[in-house]
Amino acid sequence: MAKKSTNLSIISNKSFEATKVINLRHYDISSALQTTMEFSKLIAIFSKKIESMVPHTAYAYSNAEFGVDVKQGVFTKHSCNYSLKIEDQQLGELKLMRNYRFDSEELELLETLLCSLVYPLKNVALYQNALKMAYTDPLTQVNNRTSFNELMRREMSLAFRHSKNLSLVFLDIDHFKAINDDYGHECGDFALAAVAKCIKSSLLRDSDMIFRFGGEEFVVLLSETDLAGAELVAERIRSTIESHTLSYDMSTINFTVSLGVSTLHADDDAESLLKRADEAMYKAKRNGRNRVETCA
Ligand code: GH3
Ligand code: MG
Ligand code: MG
Repeated sequence: MAKKSTNLSIISNKSFEATKVINLRHYDISSALQTTMEFSKLIAIFSKKIESMVPHTAYAYSNAEFGVDVKQGVFTKHSCNYSLKIEDQQLGELKLMRNYRFDSEELELLETLLCSLVYPLKNVALYQNALKMAYTDPLTQVNNRTSFNELMRREMSLAFRHSKNLSLVFLDIDHFKAINDDYGHECGDFALAAVAKCIKSSLLRDSDMIFRFGGEEFVVLLSETDLAGAELVAERIRSTIESHTLSYDMSTINFTVSLGVSTLHADDDAESLLKRADEAMYKAKRNGRNRVETCA
């Protein structure tokens, strides 16, 4: 009995020592991993923190749900891949690379270290999701007005700093009240979602941004785009929506939009740029709707 307890204590001491070393490193990693709420920074910190324990020359991390695809370092032949998840929640794929094999001891250590990554990763996913919801219009799944206020400010200061073009398209659905009145609000909601989809499909650059500005009004922000370019985009949106047919109950519904385009001047602020696009949109309404007007 005494012997057993001695043995046990030795075993326990050994495992305690081993755990302690890893735990201390964990502690160091864990606190570092709590310093960011961004996927790319989190993975960069993790890679740096484990470098001395599991040497690697490159890493890649992707998370399709959040559109994250990070690659860093010199890519080589040997790699180890992990699909990260907690309780059925996918947290992305992590790959480490170097020019010689990862041995089984290192992989075992890496798997222990990955345990310290998955919870911070889950927190980042929760945070990014909450952020996304705060900036997304639930009906159309495009950016909302709050998001517009922030991104407009950011895009304007970037455009001024780098002397780049910035243009804005203001869109309003024609006779939208009649859709609600004739087919009901649910149908009106479908029409709004359809408009958002049509705008999305008409935009060619990843940098183009769509916002639901209010009721049946949308704004498209086009960085590095001059007035003529923005007019072309607006015309593409107009024609896509004009040729789109909405099916609702037993009815098929066609509708149109009026669009106004403005482009950034040196003396503009967010309000004046928006106001010119709004004025141009009203001009389009006055001139018969289903058209694009500009206000340079
Ligand atoms: P115009 O061609 O002059 O723009 O006419 P309009 O009927 O589109 O414009 P008006 O401003 O008279 O009507 C806008 C309508 O949009 C009234 C409002 O009830 C409706 N609306 C605003 N937000 C929503 C929404 O989230 N869902 C639905 N179904 N309707 C909405
Ligand atoms: Mg309106
Ligand atoms: Mg309208």
